[in-house]
Amino acid sequence: MHYLFNCWDEILPQIKTSDKAMLLLDYDGTLVPIAPSPDMARLSSQTRGILEEISLCAAFELAIISGRSLSDIKALVGLEDIAYAGNHGLEIECPRGKFTPPAAVKFRPLLEIVEQRIEEQLAGVEGVFIEDKGLTLSVHYRLVQEPMVKEVRNLILKAIRSCMKEGNFKLTRGKKVIEIRPPLEWDKGKAIEWLLEIYGRPGNLPIFAGDDATDEDGFKVVRKLGGISIFVGREIIPVSADYYVNSPSELCSWLASLPGSCSL
Ligand SMILES: [Mg+2]
Repeated sequence: MHYLFNCWDEILPQIKTSDKAMLLLDYDGTLVPIAPSPDMARLSSQTRGILEEISLCAAFELAIISGRSLSDIKALVGLEDIAYAGNHGLEIECPRGKFTPPAAVKFRPLLEIVEQRIEEQLAGVEGVFIEDKGLTLSVHYRLVQEPMVKEVRNLILKAIRSCMKEGNFKLTRGKKVIEIRPPLEWDKGKAIEWLLEIYGRPGNLPIFAGDDATDEDGFKVVRKLGGISIFVGREIIPVSADYYVNSPSELCSWLASLPGSCSL
């Protein structure tokens, strides 16, 4: 992985020679720092202003691709006329259309049973909470005291595994969170392909930024398509991104420079 700011000379011509660049941005840990609980991760007015400027720039399309529910991520970002993909790409909505894999909706009743079981098994465990995002569940343990983290994580996994026969759900681990998703071949990477298709690939250069193992599907697709993939964070984890920045604030500085650099 190369430091993004050292590679501007190779990236800028790629953006300028494409018909349009499609910026696909994760939210938590990418546009805003990871917060102790999801409702504390608010977009600053400065970052919202940068995103708005990009969305109004003819050289770019803008999409936010998050593990949060679609309604949650739309409310947090609060911009009209851009694309949103929530629930790791299971719910997509943009000015050109909407998409949810029909099979994802069928799993909702099973997911409710799983949520109830996990709640029962983890009752009384301090610092754990379950976020019901409609089509997926997130079990957060960021508020667990550090010496207890390993034990609590094992308890969560045990509780989830006891429900796996209900629906053979997919598990993914993020930063102090375990995600439970329907067993479908659909992820952030598939959502990126869907969006590029509807916005008229080829001609659109995908640029994807994410901070976590759950963004790997997106990095892989963008690399395969010859786009620009950016990992956000100091703790470099093995992901298929070509570039990195150290923090959400570095990414936002780079984003702020795009409209001026690319409209010349
Ligand atoms: Mg993230």
